[in-house]
Amino acid sequence: MTLRIKQLLAPPAFADEEQARIGRILHTVLWAFLVASSGVSVWGISVASFTLVWALGGAALIFAGSLWQIRRGRLGEVSILVIATLLVMTVFLIYTGNGIHDNFIIVYPGTLILGSLVLNQRNFLVLVILTILSVGGIVFGEMWGIIQTPYSAETSFDDFLGVGAALLVTAVSVRILANDLTTSLRQARLAQHALAKNQADLQTYILELEKKQVAQAQFANQLHTAAEVTQQLTLILDPEELLNQIVTLLQNRFNLYHVQVYLLDKTTNHLIIKTASGKVGRTLREQGHYIELMRPNSLVARTAREKTIIVVNDVSQEPSFLPNPLLPATRAEVSLPLLIQEHILGVLDIQTARPESFPTSTLNTFHILAGQIAIALENARLFSQLAESEANLREGESRYRSLFEDSPISLWETDFSLVRQALNQLERPKEQSWRFYFSQHPETVIPCIQQLKVMDVNQVTLTMFQAADKEALFSLMPKFFNEKILDFLREQLIALANGLISFTGEVILRRLDGGKINVIYRLVIAPGYEETWKKAFVSLIDITERKRVEQALQAERDFAQQVIENMGQGLTVTDGNGRFQFVNSAYSRMLGYSVETLLQKSPYDLVIPDDIETLSQSQQKRRAGQSSSYEAALVHADGHLVDVLITGVPRWEGNKINGSIAVITDLTERKRAEQERERLITELEARNAELGRFTYTVSHDLKSPLVTIKGFLGLLAKDIARGDSARIKSDMERIQTAAITMEALLNDLLELARVGQLENTPQEAPFNQLAQEAVERVMGQIAERGVEVTINPKLPIIYGDLPRLVEVVQNLVDNAVKFMGTQPNPQIEIGAREFNGETAFYVKDNGIGIEPRFHEKIFGLFDRLDQSIDGTGIGLALVKRIIEVHNGRIWVESEGANKGSTFFFTVKGNTT
Ligand code: ADP
Repeated sequence: MTLRIKQLLAPPAFADEEQARIGRILHTVLWAFLVASSGVSVWGISVASFTLVWALGGAALIFAGSLWQIRRGRLGEVSILVIATLLVMTVFLIYTGNGIHDNFIIVYPGTLILGSLVLNQRNFLVLVILTILSVGGIVFGEMWGIIQTPYSAETSFDDFLGVGAALLVTAVSVRILANDLTTSLRQARLAQHALAKNQADLQTYILELEKKQVAQAQFANQLHTAAEVTQQLTLILDPEELLNQIVTLLQNRFNLYHVQVYLLDKTTNHLIIKTASGKVGRTLREQGHYIELMRPNSLVARTAREKTIIVVNDVSQEPSFLPNPLLPATRAEVSLPLLIQEHILGVLDIQTARPESFPTSTLNTFHILAGQIAIALENARLFSQLAESEANLREGESRYRSLFEDSPISLWETDFSLVRQALNQLERPKEQSWRFYFSQHPETVIPCIQQLKVMDVNQVTLTMFQAADKEALFSLMPKFFNEKILDFLREQLIALANGLISFTGEVILRRLDGGKINVIYRLVIAPGYEETWKKAFVSLIDITERKRVEQALQAERDFAQQVIENMGQGLTVTDGNGRFQFVNSAYSRMLGYSVETLLQKSPYDLVIPDDIETLSQSQQKRRAGQSSSYEAALVHADGHLVDVLITGVPRWEGNKINGSIAVITDLTERKRAEQERERLITELEARNAELGRFTYTVSHDLKSPLVTIKGFLGLLAKDIARGDSARIKSDMERIQTAAITMEALLNDLLELARVGQLENTPQEAPFNQLAQEAVERVMGQIAERGVEVTINPKLPIIYGDLPRLVEVVQNLVDNAVKFMGTQPNPQIEIGAREFNGETAFYVKDNGIGIEPRFHEKIFGLFDRLDQSIDGTGIGLALVKRIIEVHNGRIWVESEGANKGSTFFFTVKGNTT
């Protein structure tokens, strides 16, 4: 009971300093109020002031509740409630009492003092304002008669000023005091706390320091041991011995019951015991004891799997511990992984004969030792590997020697390092490629490559170069690098300079006896010497014989090729499917297709439809092994037909027929020649006939003057005998006329014989000019007859034997004048007209004309229509001849007698 009361009376406890302070103040003030109010209430009852009792009772009730709330930590709310209650109670008592002159006015400063201690800044300000307002409210209420009190008549504005100012001063000063008090209190508390904490820290620190000192001493000691063990370990390179030493050292230094090392065999995943201490260890080793890596309950296997240290301080507490019957005394065990960069090598297992809590420092030492063991093991392994590879190397070297010596290929062991230096010393601008540089400085190639040193060559090399010994061969070396093989040497340097480590080329070298050998040269920088080029191998394969055979074969091939290409006849090879496999260029020229296009075709694509049957028959013959020749027409690329003679033979491959080979002869020329011959024969026949006629005419025409001469010679003889001089004269005149006629005939004949061939080189001339000349030659006759001759302007150019063509026009104009008849207005026109794209020159007159039936005849020899007019009848025959020699045509157009005539002629090469 007393305890309860004590508890009730004791101020509430709070962790927070500020809360505790406010709690204390409220607690004290409220209890004081309760005690005081109960006293005042008793007095109030005695004087029957029930208003007072009610007010105090109400407040006391609220305050009792507040005391309870304080203990629940609701200090903020309680503070406001208490202050508000006090304020309300005061206003009520004043209002019901003597107003501003009431004694309870004293509660105002009390409330303010309490508020300054328990309220925060903001709430306190509110309290001050409320206090002033309530004072103001009461004073003015009394002054204006709203509140009636016994002293209200005396109340004035001064009361408000006085009470208000007093309360304001109280409020400000208590607040300042309270703040000061709180701050100093808090600082004092803080200082006290800091001091206490420092002291505690210092003590902990001293304690830790002591502990560390002990641990460090212990650790240093163990480290020393570990270092000692490690030092000894690093000296041992034999893994077996190394492990034995470790186990012994560990057992002695750390006074252990049993130490063993398992190594992991990666192929079987067995942890095999390698070393173990003491007699037990020997037994285990002899048994070949091992633990499977995946074995669940084994401490060693788990360590290897999880790659972490596992400590069992008391094996009797470890349910998964598997006791080894050979090690009955084991009480504690530490199992450590032997790791090299996360690779497990094995497990170091340590056992003690008493339960033990291994201190961290000891475990650290074991850890360090396990690491060192792993490194030592790895070292030993690497060392044995090194020894092994060294042995391999030695073996390799001797094998290399025998390979080198016995190789059937010429091998050279060389040193290119000086070549490299020489290359580096060349002043090549960085932006230039080596290829470009050497093309600009070809003289640098040979000095560079001459820096090559030959270290050794094999036996085959000596034989290849016909050298008695190596010295003889090496003395030849400078001769190898000469201008003749400059291209080859340069390519080699470019390859090397560009960082390639091998180079292959074909080159011709000279033997000691001067003979040439063709070799495939291959250079390989030996592996490991890519930077220095100190060692490089050159192999030479003699391909002289192969080259010779190749060249002979090539020559044969070239010969066959040349024959085929130049044979002037088409040659084709078709395969079993009838497609072209080969065509020569003569065939391609013959048909106007490229060789490539022809190879896409078959003979069927080229023959005309009529010859397809022939072609298929001949192919059947080939398949039957027969040869044959046939004529066919092929279609040229431009569409014209090419007559050919095809001679085909079956193509044998071994004893099998596969397609055919054909020779195609172009018959166009032959056909043309045949046609020409035909033409010539016809022409010859015509000529013969003409000649027959000619001979007849000539002999007949020549005969008539001769007959005349003969007749008159007879008459002359008689007249001379008679002495008839008049007749003699007339006879002689007749004889002379006949002789002149004969001479004219003979001259014309001679002329005719002469115009049979071209005399002058063909030339071009404007036809106007030519006509002009012709007209001038017969100007006498023209003038005499009074003929008007017109030569059309703008006549085309004529091409041919110009003097002869002048004769043609001259003859035609001459005839036109001669056969003008009685035309009163004689006119001749010379011009040109176009006939079917061909130019025909013409001479037109308005003379006697020629009846159509004589249009052909007049061109015959000695054909004359009108015997009364002068002439031999040879003129037009001559003209015709000249035109024929020009491959032209001559004809006459005339509607008949007195209608005039127009003679047209063409000459070849005069087309418009
Ligand atoms: P020639 O003039 O020597 O008689 P041509 O061979 O020159 O012999 O002429 C043969 C014949 O053709 C002439 O005799 C004549 O009858 C006829 N003839 C030639 N030219 C004309 C012409 N322009 N007009 C009419 N008849 C002509």
